Amino acid sequence: MQYRPHCSRCGEEHALDIPQSVNAATQPELRDRVRNGELFTWTCPHCGTVNLLKVPFLYHDPAEHLMLVLTDAPVNAEGVPEGYTGRQVRSVGDLIEKIKIFDAGLDDVIIEMCKYVTYQELKKEVPLKFVGTDGADGEMTFTYPEKGQMEMVAVGFNVYEDCAGILRRNPQVREGVSGLATVDQDWLSRYFR
Ligand SMILES: [Zn+2]
Repeated sequence: MQYRPHCSRCGEEHALDIPQSVNAATQPELRDRVRNGELFTWTCPHCGTVNLLKVPFLYHDPAEHLMLVLTDAPVNAEGVPEGYTGRQVRSVGDLIEKIKIFDAGLDDVIIEMCKYVTYQELKKEVPLKFVGTDGADGEMTFTYPEKGQMEMVAVGFNVYEDCAGILRRNPQVREGVSGLATVDQDWLSRYFR
C-alpha cells in the first residue's frame, strides 16, 4: 500500500510502501520488522527526522492462532477464525506489545491485570508496556516514559500467577473478551477501579 506521509518536523512529503498485513509463519523477516517497529518508521531524507507512520495493519500468526488488527476504525470480527485470539489495537506501540506478550507465551488479559496491580504499587499512572520475561523465575519487565527517558520496572512472576488467580475468581472479565477485543487498561477499568 502506497502512503504519502508528511515529515513531523519539516513537513516534506515522502512516498512509502508499507504492506497491509504480515503472516508471521511465512514472512519471518517482515514479522521481525513489525516486532521491532522498523516497518512503521521512516527517516525524512530532507531533515533526518525519524517519523512513525501509523497505518491500518493486520498481524496474523497461524502458529499461535493469533490475529492482531491495528486500526481506529470499528472492525468486523467475522474474519477471525474459530479458536483464534483476536485483538484490536490502536497504536503501533500496542501492536508490538501484544506480539511480545503472545510470543512469550503469556496471556494479555493477565498482563493487563499485572499492570493494574503494578500501578497500585508504583502509586502513579504511567503507560506501562510489557517488554519481556527474563531468567529462570520468569521475572517480567515493563517500561514507561518519565522525564523523557524510558524507566524499567521488574515484576516477579508471582504477580502474574496472583493475577491469573484474581481473573479465575472474576470470570466475567474474561467472558467479555471475544471476537476482536480491545484488551487494555481502559477496558479493564470497567471491572476494577
Ligand atoms: Zn523532515
